[in-house]
Amino acid sequence: MSDLCDFGLIGLAVMGENLALNVESRGYKVAVYNRTTSKVDDFIEGRAAGKQFVGCHTVEEMVKALKPPRKVMMLVKAGPAVDALIEQLIPLLDKGDVIIDGGNTYYADTERRTKYVEEQGLLYCGTGVSGGEEGALKGPSMMPGGTPESWEHVKPIFQAIAAKVGPNGDIPCCEWVGPRGAGHYVKMVHNGIEYGDMQLICEAYFLLKEAIGLTNDELYDVFAEWNKGELDSYLIEITRDIFSVKDEETGEFMVDKVLDRAGAKGTGKWMSQLALDLGVPSTLVTEAVYARCLSALKDERVRASKVLKGPHGEHLNGKKYEGDKKEFIEQVRQALYASKIVSYAQGFVQLQAAAAEHDWPLNYGDCAMLWRGGCIIRAVFLDRIKEAFDKDANLENLLLAPYFAEAVDKAQDAWRHVVATAATIGIPVPAFATALAYYDGYRRADLPANLLQAQRDYFGAHTYERTDKPRGEMFHTEWLDLR
Ligand code: NAP
Repeated sequence: MSDLCDFGLIGLAVMGENLALNVESRGYKVAVYNRTTSKVDDFIEGRAAGKQFVGCHTVEEMVKALKPPRKVMMLVKAGPAVDALIEQLIPLLDKGDVIIDGGNTYYADTERRTKYVEEQGLLYCGTGVSGGEEGALKGPSMMPGGTPESWEHVKPIFQAIAAKVGPNGDIPCCEWVGPRGAGHYVKMVHNGIEYGDMQLICEAYFLLKEAIGLTNDELYDVFAEWNKGELDSYLIEITRDIFSVKDEETGEFMVDKVLDRAGAKGTGKWMSQLALDLGVPSTLVTEAVYARCLSALKDERVRASKVLKGPHGEHLNGKKYEGDKKEFIEQVRQALYASKIVSYAQGFVQLQAAAAEHDWPLNYGDCAMLWRGGCIIRAVFLDRIKEAFDKDANLENLLLAPYFAEAVDKAQDAWRHVVATAATIGIPVPAFATALAYYDGYRRADLPANLLQAQRDYFGAHTYERTDKPRGEMFHTEWLDLR
């Protein structure tokens, strides 16, 4: 029995190899399998040499190498490959064994697979893993969901390999999220927030570069400074570093050599689509996805830039900002911070709506702590979110937490000035602007939807509620007759 392995891992691409090494480094013996078996041999002879690994050439061989209750983690391309592997595993496993999917899986697939695998007498664990290859090796952020009984089996291993945070560096960024697809949903919202954070940083960069003409060296200093305060985060830190990297071929700044055409793998789009399905306004991630779509139209934009004029009849930006540069940098920082608060507020509202729809008992403070280390959106700021949900687990919107309400209020003059300046000069800031529009919409007791309802009733007899009658009581007016 002692020769058997504690953990099985399927899929030796970047994530799988690194995660397997991480598990082994915590004292566990790991069995590994990959469809292309030469990768198993390369791994065993290479990075795994001298370590506690067993290389397997078939799924069956791997299952036989495991101690019961077996824990088999798949880190393969999300989609049909996962279903195919589940079908291979089911007849080989015994009651109580756990199948884990650590890929970037669409949450509804995990909902379906959890039920299916449970029907076969097995346990399923759909786990979001964030942090890329470095995180997988040194400590990722992990968001496990699925069959609740699977948690006791995977917990010791997952919490051992996850990133650690807290004053003593001993709080793992891995906690049980909820049943079925909850873990993968939380991972998707993490990715959507990542889209928003990145877009906001890009807009700040564009303003500082285009409106006040900062050089890359100056941008490095600005981001270095920002990383010491409220914005202290991994993404601000790597942005700072990017401004210092030179191209080996030309000696010029690398960032200026990168084509302004963004790619995407789809998790931001999923979050946006699901927000529409739930009827919640996650405008920031949506604008961030659209901003990538617009960036992808590079050739068309080049053609349009020769036809369409900006302010003051100029083809490009009109004119530069004429105010105080130092003041403007601080205003952009505040606009970025306030917009980031809105972005996280929207992300948590979407989580709350999804949890209600799917009956997931999510702990929102825990979710914030899962993202505190190991992942791309790790930031000091998440401690404040945890505190807000610890004080009020039923907080409707982060913007209503006194800390954030005050922070946004303090930043709002600068935020408004930055959005107005961008519009005046002709610099696109869709995420800053949508965040501000959301804030202004959310804080208004009255919106113009009275007119909208009147229009709908006028042309389509869609009915409306009245301000002076009980909610839910519907009215219709023959608008033409009353004219
Ligand atoms: P990947 O490129 O997404 O997938 C490659 C792996 O999947 C290979 O091991 C490949 O085996 C295996 N595979 C593909 N189709 C298969 C099939 N039909 N049956 C069995 N195995 C199959 O690898 P990755 O980048 O390491 O990512 C693994 C998972 O983690 C993905 O879901 C990804 O979205 C997620 N993820 C990735 C990152 C990242 O930074 N890369 C971060 C977080 C999460 P072969 O060698 O035989 O082709």
